[in-house]
Amino acid sequence: MTRAFVTGWPVEHSLSPLIHGHWLKRYGIEGSYEKLAKSPDEVESFLTGLPESQWAGGNVTIPHKETAFRVCATLDDAARAIGAVNTVWIEDGRLAGANTDAHGFLANLDDRAEGWDQASTALVLGAGGAARAVIHGLLTRGFSDIVVANRTLGRADALARHFRDKVRPLIWDRIAEEVPRAGLIVNTTSLGMKGQPALEIDFASARPDTVVTDIVYTPLVTPLLAGASEHGLKTVDGLGMLLHQAVPGFEKWFGRRPEVDNELRAVLLDALENGSRNP
Ligand code: NAP
Repeated sequence: MTRAFVTGWPVEHSLSPLIHGHWLKRYGIEGSYEKLAKSPDEVESFLTGLPESQWAGGNVTIPHKETAFRVCATLDDAARAIGAVNTVWIEDGRLAGANTDAHGFLANLDDRAEGWDQASTALVLGAGGAARAVIHGLLTRGFSDIVVANRTLGRADALARHFRDKVRPLIWDRIAEEVPRAGLIVNTTSLGMKGQPALEIDFASARPDTVVTDIVYTPLVTPLLAGASEHGLKTVDGLGMLLHQAVPGFEKWFGRRPEVDNELRAVLLDALENGSRNP
């Protein structure tokens, strides 16, 4: 039986077992996907010991993504560009790592807003770990004008340096000035999440073809997306990013490329509404 895991500290809240559990059942694969809580002290030896273990691989989540990046013997382009690993597997007896968040972000938009990448200008709100994945994804799709606005300007500056000045840092207070130019507006901050303050932007000056997406998915329709819809703009919620980022890992461990469809989306929506985190 093939076994995969998700490790984090804590890991109890992870929705990944629901996604992989659904696919294992759907494709009749004899396998398991288990939550493994590993403390920051334990995780390095756990990861380096994987090639000699019974695990096929797994997901690595907060706060272990940078440790995984450091200990993997091989990395995919996205992991190298982002500086963090969220998916590991064994290849030729060595630990291999990938970052699938950028793939998840892009695949979600491809799925729900066909043609979104005809634009070349993006306004990215936030400069944390998720923003790195989003920016890497946008650069791979040829976006040539990416502005990153962040509450703490120093973090947006650091991100601009990380991406060799291919993105322009912006003071948070000046977001409104960039709205008319942006073909894509992305929230990567935790604002708008259940229990957090709302993120509200005045879309009155936005282009009619601007696409607005939020990577926060609790609630599914964030205040940002609700505001964009009121102005007739195309919106894409963040749940699909979570679902699509899981695809490459499942394929590596279990040997079958799984599908993201409405059935899977319904499983997750039900869990989000009812608070269940187990398959
Ligand atoms: P992170 O590294 O902690 O970054 C958080 C970002 O939010 C920073 O830019 C921070 O600004 C900003 N922020 C927090 N509170 C703020 C406030 N009150 N006003 C303005 N900005 C504020 O977190 P992350 O890993 O990038 O994740 C960010 C969000 O994305 C989380 O909600 C996470 O659940 C979600 N996410 C979703 C997916 C998905 O699959 N859909 C994947 C990854 C992450 P400062 O730098 O000024 O603190």
